[in-house]
Amino acid sequence: MKLYQPEEVIVERSSLGSPIYRNLRQSLADVPFTVVDEIASAGSNVAADRFGAAKKKLFLAEHKGEFFKKCPGSDGQVCCNYFVINFASNCPMDCSYCYLQEYLADNSQLKVFSNVGALIDEADQVLKKHRGMFFRVGTGEITDSLALEPYTGMVSELIPYFAEQPNVLLELKTKSDCVDSLLKLDPKGRVVVAWSMNPQRVIDLDEADTASFSERLIAARRCQEVGYRLGFHFDPMIEYPGWEADYKNMLEELFATIDWRKLSWLSLGVLRNTPGLKRAMRERFPRTRLLTGEQVICPDGKLRYFQPLRVEMYRKMVGWIRRAAPTVKIYLCMESKEVWQQVFGFAPACEKDLGNEMAPGAESSWV
Ligand code: SF4
Repeated sequence: MKLYQPEEVIVERSSLGSPIYRNLRQSLADVPFTVVDEIASAGSNVAADRFGAAKKKLFLAEHKGEFFKKCPGSDGQVCCNYFVINFASNCPMDCSYCYLQEYLADNSQLKVFSNVGALIDEADQVLKKHRGMFFRVGTGEITDSLALEPYTGMVSELIPYFAEQPNVLLELKTKSDCVDSLLKLDPKGRVVVAWSMNPQRVIDLDEADTASFSERLIAARRCQEVGYRLGFHFDPMIEYPGWEADYKNMLEELFATIDWRKLSWLSLGVLRNTPGLKRAMRERFPRTRLLTGEQVICPDGKLRYFQPLRVEMYRKMVGWIRRAAPTVKIYLCMESKEVWQQVFGFAPACEKDLGNEMAPGAESSWV
């Protein structure tokens, strides 16, 4: 994977004392740094592709709001009771289907938050107050969890704290292979490193600047070897002529490389769009085939493949997975109870039910 290199780093003055600033200075010694009082207006650009141009500069600033939030999920879909910590905003990679193109259209600066101490304090208050509850916490909602790690060292600041908490699993979701710094730390069973996986044909066409399938798989194995739990998200699954062979081969290669008994979970989800996202894709990726397939609008306002096609895709994937990994935990991301029923023959009673299934050591009632 070709490592992202920003053209400039713009730092808010109040972030100069943070460990993230120190790490950036050390790792990006050849990149110009500019210090500003406030980043709000700094670096705004008028390029035709504002979203793409925004990825070229890296901003460092304090986060002013709350870090720890419940994942909003999607109306009418089964939610997996997930919490998110946003330590950065936007992503240096450039997938054609990325929902951030719409979600961050008016706030597209590629930004890392410097006040990691405040983040840990906030998480600590929540986790201590609810010791009886199990939390699955992710950092990859509006950024990739690891793509900037070689420069920021953010995750290396977080892991030692989360590794000591008895009621949490921290999930780091990525399409990169930037795991070197993780290998020096002891996750103590509390950290899941998870990859979004697609066949190389999809990566080549629609996941620009990400690690290849093989690079992701090698990175995953390295993490597994030093004690990290692993997850894989086959999401978004793309339907195209020959998708079955590509996805089946991908799964065979994955299970030949990874010890499935040590997987925490797998998830499945099909391509999701909105009319606004499609507009952004048409402007930025006019040649992508993802704009040509038929989709229907669902109760949450998102466009998905027709339900019978989705069910068929999920059933086939579950069948191929079960052949290699009979008892691995699989869930559907942002799907209705109706689709769950058709794929698995049941649907979780509530979001806590689904969340608790994912707790370490939980006996699965689903397989
Ligand atoms: S890796 Fe994720 S966050 Fe980054 S561009 Fe792709 S879909 Fe968006």
